[in-house]
This record gives sequence, C-alpha cells and structure tokens, in this order.
Amino acid sequence: MKNHEPTRNYYAESLATIATFPSHQKPRLLLHVCCGPCACYPLTFLCAHFSVTIYYGNSNIYPQEEYEHRLAELKRLLEALKKDYGDSIDLVVPPYRHDTYWEELKPYAALPEGGYRCQLCYRKRMEEAYTYADEHGFDYFTTVMTISPQKSSPILNAIGAELETHHKTPYFYSDFKKKGGIDKGITIRKQYGLYYQDYCGCEASLAARKKQ
Ligand code: SF4
Repeated sequence: MKNHEPTRNYYAESLATIATFPSHQKPRLLLHVCCGPCACYPLTFLCAHFSVTIYYGNSNIYPQEEYEHRLAELKRLLEALKKDYGDSIDLVVPPYRHDTYWEELKPYAALPEGGYRCQLCYRKRMEEAYTYADEHGFDYFTTVMTISPQKSSPILNAIGAELETHHKTPYFYSDFKKKGGIDKGITIRKQYGLYYQDYCGCEASLAARKKQ
C-alpha cells in the first residue's frame, strides 16, 4: 500500500474528532494494542477522552512464550495505571493462532521490515479487531501502532480508512508519534520497568534481529 496522503495531520484530526464529543460523555473505543510499551503513551492520551477497551490480537508474535510475556507485561501496565490514575481499562484476548496467521505472511518472509509483509500484518490484526468492535457496538476503533518509529502512520491510517468502508464502527484517525509521543511513551515504560522486546514479533523479524 502506498502512502496516499502524506500531508494529512492525523494528530490534528484526532483532536478535531475529540472536540465533537459532549463534555460529559466518553465514547467507547476499542483499541488494538500490540504490546505494553507501545500502549503507554496512547493510553494516557486516550483515557482522558474515551472509555477504552483493549484488544490484544497479535497472532503475529513468535514464539508463543514471547506472546504470553508481552501480554503479561501489558496486564502489569494496566494494573499500574489503575492504581496510579484510576484508569479502568478492559482487556479482550482472542485465541492465539500463529500457525494459520503465519501461513499468509510466510511467502514474504524475505522482504525487509516495513514492506508488503508488514502491511499485510497490520491489516490482518486491524481487521480482526475491527470486526470485534462492530460486533460489540463500540463507538470508535483504532490501533496504537502509529506510535512505532518503524511503522508508517499514513500507511496505518490508510488501512484504517479502507477497513472503515466495510465496517460500521467509525475509525479514529490518530498519530501517537506526534507531540513527543515516542519520548513520552519511553518515559512511562521506564517508570514501570516494562519489558521492551528487541524485535517486532514474527519469525522474520526475530531472524533479522539475530543476524544483526
Ligand atoms: S516484522 Fe512485525 S509487522 Fe512485519 S510481519 Fe513481522 S510481526 Fe508483522
């Protein structure tokens, strides 16, 4: 997928959407989360404006022990945020199905990170979570993945826009990299001593890390 709209300011769009909310009401947002470290800053930003439920749908992660470890760290983050800020955030964990997930990505295993394999991977996880949002009557859907320096925010938002055309839940445009989002996330991650993985998730990214 090409970067169709590089000049759009998705951060400004997120603020414009929030400005339409009645002051006494928090819409229900289903938030796709890939791991605790990536969720740190988006959660502090979003919980002020939404009632947030997290969808941890990440069958891309290999091996399963790593998937479980990232999930455990996410749960630890949610407990800490509840204790320190009173944020009560629900967590949905669908079944882990790496083998079937990887079948579709495997033909593109040799491609560099950020290329076609990754765009398929973003879309698969967002589509799964988006379907859950539709089925459970959420007001908005989005993903935390725009916080990642390795992931293109315009590409992720373009996928969100395309998915919105065949889902009933509105897509919440966002860019969590903006306004120092990456540094703010690192500060929160360090504050809670969260585990920070050194590869993205799949076999290909693990092999690339080992090669380095
Ligand atoms: S590198 Fe990350 S985004 Fe790309 S295919 Fe692997 S797990 Fe998915």
